[in-house]
Amino acid sequence: MKNYSYDLHIHSALSPCADEDMTPNNIARMCMLGGVRIAALTDHNTTANCPAFFSACEDAGVVPLAGCEVTTSEEIHALCLFGRLDAAMAFGDFLYPHIPDIENRPDVFGRQTLLDGKDREVGEERKLLITATDISIDDIWDIAASHGGVAVPAHIDRPAFSLLVGFGFIPDGYPFTAYEINSGACDENGADRVDRLVAENPALAGKTILRDSDAHELAGLVREPALMALPHASAEAVIAALRG
Ligand SMILES: [Zn+2]
Ligand SMILES: [Zn+2]
Repeated sequence: MKNYSYDLHIHSALSPCADEDMTPNNIARMCMLGGVRIAALTDHNTTANCPAFFSACEDAGVVPLAGCEVTTSEEIHALCLFGRLDAAMAFGDFLYPHIPDIENRPDVFGRQTLLDGKDREVGEERKLLITATDISIDDIWDIAASHGGVAVPAHIDRPAFSLLVGFGFIPDGYPFTAYEINSGACDENGADRVDRLVAENPALAGKTILRDSDAHELAGLVREPALMALPHASAEAVIAALRG
């Protein structure tokens, strides 16, 4: 086993709330420069820029994962990550009809830009991607698993769109093997944030806690990357590790 740096929660310009310069190649090169060895593209409710991201990562020498950040019917965000690009794209096709048919208003919410592997614009997504789907947090694990992936409740330490805030606690008996936090490893007093979260939420004991950027702008990718112990640097190894 060896420690590999990772960032498994990154938005491209396809997310309306992300900057226009969050293109696949800019993200991949920024990860490479910042020492991130394994990176996942996780736009809101869509995997459509993942093929371009894979191509960009190949050029940059970064190991890519494909996925997306699903907004559940309870307005909880869950990362869905896949070891294979085709599996992620099939999941994206499955997800699309579960997004309400509300037209995006680029002037209000931002553009939703589809890009190719050379960062060329190839279209714009019509449906607003940041709305809640009709999929429950209770079902997201099974749905991701049936597509060969893994679901991870996102940024549980954040005050919005998180499992911990939505419910006030982590319900017992949830199938999740990993949870994600966005803040640094240590809190303002220098105490280990994960230790504190686990002490406050016994349901987190023994679970993998990911620490990702949730970057919506290039500057958000500049940080000390977290490390994961893996037998080798591959998307399949990450999915296996997340499944525990
Ligand atoms: Zn989120
Ligand atoms: Zn996000």
